[in-house]
Amino acid sequence: MNLVFLGPPGAGKGTQAQRLATAHGIAHVSTGDMLRSAVAEGTEVGRQAKGYLDRGELVPDQVIADLVAERIQADDCSTGFLLDGFPRTLAQAELLDGALSGLDLAIDAAVLIEVNEDELLQRLTSRGEGRSDDQPDVIRHRLEVYADQTAPLAGLYDQRGLLRRVDGLGSIDDVAARVAGSVNGRSV
Ligand code: ADP
Repeated sequence: MNLVFLGPPGAGKGTQAQRLATAHGIAHVSTGDMLRSAVAEGTEVGRQAKGYLDRGELVPDQVIADLVAERIQADDCSTGFLLDGFPRTLAQAELLDGALSGLDLAIDAAVLIEVNEDELLQRLTSRGEGRSDDQPDVIRHRLEVYADQTAPLAGLYDQRGLLRRVDGLGSIDDVAARVAGSVNGRSV
């Protein structure tokens, strides 16, 4: 099973993605985590990406699409994968489609975790993980980038009959149960 996770910063996407991927024995592919590791390791991609991350901007589509295309061919993705944080623009969705068709793969469902903006701001300003992009002005910018560039992807996956909307309010366990229910019945 191959899944896409969509949702604004602060929606709890990473936590839910990890749980669902573990439950299904599929790889959790988080582009944010991949980029933060690349920055920490000082790789070429990391050097290119650092400024974008610090400003809350998106790294160039082709850079991230190439990373993901390579990542989904790793051994641990052979049972399936959950893409967390990608695609994030319509151009990335097209690049993903191209990579998947070349590998004879497809997306089975796209899970959108929905949380209202007041709650998102509340969560992001109090999560205090020390992420360099969790400064108030950068948070506001990440939410704008999401609304402008990423939110339209829900329509794209909805047109394809793949979108599963999940209410992201409530406890982690409550949301996890909704997420699990939303993908039930998909072929594994
Ligand atoms: P969040 O969803 O909380 O903003 P992520 O960990 O998913 O956090 O992403 C953090 C940052 O990594 C983004 O603000 C962006 O700079 C970069 N990033 C992650 N995924 C992508 C992507 N698919 N395309 C471009 N940039 C990305």
